[in-house]
Amino acid sequence: MASSSVAATAAEPGPHAAGEKVAAAAVFWHEGMLAHDAGRGVFGRGLDPGFLDVLDHHPENADRVRNMVSILRRGPIARFLSWHSGRPAHAAELLSFHSAEYIEELVQADSAGANNNKICECTFLNPGSWDAALLAAGTTLSAMKHILDGHAKIAYALVRPPGHHAQPDRADGYCFLNNAGLAVKLALDSGRRRVAVVDIDVHYGNGTAEGFYHTDSVLTISLHMKHGSWGPSHPQSGLVDETGEGRGLGYNLNIPLPNGSGDAGYEYAMNELVVPAIEKFRPELMVFVVGQDSSAFDPNGRQCLTMDGYRKIGQIMRGMADQHSNGQILIVQEGGYHITYSAYCLHATLEGVLNLQAPLLDDPLGFYPDDEKYTMQAVDIIKKCWKESIPFLKDI
Ligand SMILES: [Zn+2]
Repeated sequence: MASSSVAATAAEPGPHAAGEKVAAAAVFWHEGMLAHDAGRGVFGRGLDPGFLDVLDHHPENADRVRNMVSILRRGPIARFLSWHSGRPAHAAELLSFHSAEYIEELVQADSAGANNNKICECTFLNPGSWDAALLAAGTTLSAMKHILDGHAKIAYALVRPPGHHAQPDRADGYCFLNNAGLAVKLALDSGRRRVAVVDIDVHYGNGTAEGFYHTDSVLTISLHMKHGSWGPSHPQSGLVDETGEGRGLGYNLNIPLPNGSGDAGYEYAMNELVVPAIEKFRPELMVFVVGQDSSAFDPNGRQCLTMDGYRKIGQIMRGMADQHSNGQILIVQEGGYHITYSAYCLHATLEGVLNLQAPLLDDPLGFYPDDEKYTMQAVDIIKKCWKESIPFLKDI
């Protein structure tokens, strides 16, 4: 479906004809996604132990995304963005990535109308949740279509609930539908032959990896903290040896980074591992899966990225897209649970992707100690593994 621009106010950075107004990035959003409420409890578990007066909102709550919307609408980056309305996905569209049985299970769970229906650990379906999940999937598809139709080179799907843990036949880690995976399928079905997904959420993008584990048309790369499997919904380890199967062998690249990897460590991992792998793969389109839970202040992660780190990763992504994919990048929102800092880090990421030269926004939380030496050692070991075991990367 064609998107409708609701507030195109931007001027593209760099020279342009006098009076010409061109949006630099198209943001896709629908406020119906705020209706998903995963409840309260001890952090994400939905439990009331009975001895706490104040229970947390579930970490994946609407407020985190309200701040992302407002910083993009009213922060200094606002003039570089245009806003477009998202829409719900149709059930048939979901079958490009998910099994019919799994979708039917979710439809049944929604129509049963249960409150706090625990689909898997820490993942709750409430009235309004399924509609929000359909909006997240459809909004991401609209953002991808916007690029495929040539309306913009950079589009950002600002969506929740997140999607990158959702596997073809199961929910996991706050995720029901794999928004990025569905968008990749749309790109493939529209004739793109090679799509690369780079996921910097602090958790392993296991659902996306699983969905494309047997194909060499999609290169999935995930940088994440070393958290391993976390139960029946998340059997994947996220370690270096999960590299794909069959034709997909070598086309899932995991980059598990030591806890505390910060700006310099992530930049090193991007330049030493991601850039050369993308260079070899030569994607026709890039999908940048972002989570601000890799930040120094996130309650759900143990990495130490700051706004500078996110800005730099955004710049590197833009450089790769300019070189290989005619500048085309779909950005898809995943985690990020610090209510304030996630919004700031998102702002910095988009500054990087838009190649804005000077930081537009200062870091409000300032200095955090960063020790990159363990990350660099880990990256060097991963590179050695890839050269030995991934055929298309033997000479990186
Ligand atoms: Zn995450």
